[in-house]
Amino acid sequence: MSLLPLQKGILYGPIDSRRLGKSLGINLMPAEYKLCSFNCVYCHYGWTKVHAFDVLPHQKDIPRLDDVVRAIKGALMSGQAFDYLTFSGNGEPTLYPRFLELVTRVAELRDKYRPRLKVALLSNSSGLNNADVVKSIDHIDMPVFKLDAGKREIFYAINRPARGVIFKQIVERLQSLKRILIQTVLVHGSPCNARVQDLKAYFELIKKIRPKAVHIYSIDRPVPNVRIKRVLPEELKQIARRGEDDTKVKIEAFYLDHKGEG
Ligand code: SF4
Repeated sequence: MSLLPLQKGILYGPIDSRRLGKSLGINLMPAEYKLCSFNCVYCHYGWTKVHAFDVLPHQKDIPRLDDVVRAIKGALMSGQAFDYLTFSGNGEPTLYPRFLELVTRVAELRDKYRPRLKVALLSNSSGLNNADVVKSIDHIDMPVFKLDAGKREIFYAINRPARGVIFKQIVERLQSLKRILIQTVLVHGSPCNARVQDLKAYFELIKKIRPKAVHIYSIDRPVPNVRIKRVLPEELKQIARRGEDDTKVKIEAFYLDHKGEG
């Protein structure tokens, strides 16, 4: 197995997802390189090529809003079967400069052409400092936000954010949101966020955020930082059970089974 190749265009998939069923991915970032406000040690796309919180200097590489809308409309009008439209792709989708306008238009198209289809967002949470991104969540059926650490120093070691991303601000914004899911990747090795003391601080934040549910993962593919190690499925399941007891929030462990299905 190797690192995942970048998505080549605006739409990709549908991908079979255990959480979402058949999910048609929407990539709002460049096709040629990964543009992200984080540079996570476990990113399956490899190290971040353009590490930025402000994407305006790279706008020429980002798909135009009309092109994104046209591509999504085409998919909705096609006979292709999928259960979710998912904002994800080659970096952080909420960095897209007109994200609220785009999400609103996608929701309108969905209502018109496939009212039963759901829209999901997989975000690293850094865009929540933008009020428009917060508003866009109203149009998203399944908003999933990343939180990999209970403490600032672990956040910096694992997610390696770009200048301008503030952990405390992310946590405050997550606490202010309703009906969100939290997604967390846990790793051993160096750096690590799965020791008892790391999890204690992390569960404290989960109690404050009170998400609808938490999805925890470990790594199942090659990663850019080879010093991190996988948390094995049995330990991941134990962490989920301990976390549920502690936080009273539903926590599910996801991992590849022996056939390689996630
Ligand atoms: S936030 Fe996602 S895309 Fe960005 S570096 Fe982390 S795992 Fe990769």
